[in-house]
Amino acid sequence: MNQDAVRKSRPDFTWEHTELLRYKVEGSAPFRNVTRQVLFDDIAGGAQWRYFEVAPGGWSTLERHQHTHAVMVLRGRGRCLVGQQVREIAERDLVEIAPMTWHQFRAAEDAPLGFLCLVSCDRDRPQLPDAQQLRALRDDPAIAEFLEGQDR
Ligand code: MN
Repeated sequence: MNQDAVRKSRPDFTWEHTELLRYKVEGSAPFRNVTRQVLFDDIAGGAQWRYFEVAPGGWSTLERHQHTHAVMVLRGRGRCLVGQQVREIAERDLVEIAPMTWHQFRAAEDAPLGFLCLVSCDRDRPQLPDAQQLRALRDDPAIAEFLEGQDR
């Protein structure tokens, strides 16, 4: 990285010399109100360390893939779906996403959900659930409730 070793943080959870990116291309997958920043790229033997922020009421894409995520909540609170589990999460909580595990992050209605997420630079593309997989997920009432209100 051709820049200072130190990039200072700002109160709004952006960082100096770090671009505030769109989460994904609009329309490529369902999501609402998520931003992405790549904090470190190709470090620690081929890892990428990102910061995602889901605005109040927003959600990340419901997806699964072979690669794993190591997540720490840095700002705010919300809930996540990991496999069959729906859990409340808040600052400093850790979330591990195992291979091929359905996962999604939702911010609270009155707070953002900002989280650090470590991935391998070399990773497979996320899979989205098809109608049948979505129905199977929704068979669980807690998951059905978690997925409610998403315009898919
Ligand atoms: Mn993912």
